[in-house]
Amino acid sequence: MNKIELPRSVSFIISSLNDAGYEAYIVGGCVRDYLLGKQPKDWDITTSALPEDVKHVFAHTYDTGIEHGTVTVLIDKVGYEVTTYRIDGEYKDNRHPESVIFTNKLTGDLARRDFTMNAIAYNDSEGFVDMFNGMEDLRMGIIRAVREPSERFREDALRMMRALRFSAQLGFEIEENTKRAICENASLIKNISMERIRDELIKLILSDNPLNIYEVKAEGLMDCFMPELSSTLENQRNEITACLEMTAADTVKRLSLLMHSLPATEQEKLLRRLRLDNRTVKDVITLSRCMNVKPNPTPYEIRKLISETSVSMTDDVIYMWSVLGYKEESTTAHRIFERITADGDCCSVAQLAISGEDLIKEGIPAGKQLGDILRASLDEVLRQPEHNSREYLIDKAVKMMGGK
Ligand code: ATP
Ligand code: MG
Repeated sequence: MNKIELPRSVSFIISSLNDAGYEAYIVGGCVRDYLLGKQPKDWDITTSALPEDVKHVFAHTYDTGIEHGTVTVLIDKVGYEVTTYRIDGEYKDNRHPESVIFTNKLTGDLARRDFTMNAIAYNDSEGFVDMFNGMEDLRMGIIRAVREPSERFREDALRMMRALRFSAQLGFEIEENTKRAICENASLIKNISMERIRDELIKLILSDNPLNIYEVKAEGLMDCFMPELSSTLENQRNEITACLEMTAADTVKRLSLLMHSLPATEQEKLLRRLRLDNRTVKDVITLSRCMNVKPNPTPYEIRKLISETSVSMTDDVIYMWSVLGYKEESTTAHRIFERITADGDCCSVAQLAISGEDLIKEGIPAGKQLGDILRASLDEVLRQPEHNSREYLIDKAVKMMGGK
């Protein structure tokens, strides 16, 4: 392959920069993905123009990461990141460089990139600029650090997680020296922020090779930031090996499968440490807890599950039963679930034919007892949906109070 079919806007950006006397190339993930026959997610452009120069060349721009040299150029309302060639300044504490130094040489910019497959630049007039044989590594399916791997991981320890994440996403091998350098430098990952680690970890878990999570463990990285998962993965190896790949590529489902045998308190600690959002934390804990209960697919149990969680969580629990091997139970539960949702069965206090106010009007005082009556009414209706009528429930409530 010697030509990339560039989108019109990308060609326009490159030629506009050229016309103004600057060099410009597409670079990084988009070149890699194109060579792999995948549609690039975004088209990143690298240029000899300084950020201020880029802003002069285009009518519509905004600053995205100006301190890193990135300006977003808007063409037809779509943003393209245009970044000035840079070499990284000195790295301290194995993360982000202290400063960014702009350069007017493409070679410097390519040399600071992490892996050979991510260090290829391209434009129509020069074709591919591939100083580190990234194209050959792509053909061979190899992830290889640009230059000396140990040094590169000491500069920025996140690159070790990135190597494992790309390996899982692309099904590539990590080259021997690069792999050895990961093992040797694994402990440096503790200097990296949890958000950055989490992003790579989630991408790995959602990839086509989620079992590569065992590589994160084997290389010694996992023990540095989530030792509790490390031991669970060991203890549950058979179950996880059998089930993880067939679990839909969804953060909550895959995390629940990985963590469901940890106590809820430990799950929460771990999920919070990974700085996951509240919704995800709550859903993983709920799904894990429900997965751990042996399935009992009766209409009452399914309605109860909906009332205790939600419609979508119940759907997920039923799905996970099937993943865990309870195929028949899951099929039956799913049939029941579909009927319940189609019929609109009452599965919450809010859907009851009576409200707290109705009961107060009947002379039942507000307070704990009223709450108990509503809950008992719901349980009755979960068992027998046809009992969800005002007359029936009020009559029953009054009787529960010992009659009027
Ligand atoms: P993805 O498809 O997941 O976005 P990507 O390769 O585009 O993959 P980005 O994080 O978007 O990854 O980074 C864009 C490019 O910047 C990379 O291709 C690589 O050249 C460079 N890069 C990103 N992170 C690092 C890093 N930690 N060290 C060195 N180079 C990096
Ligand atoms: Mg990218």
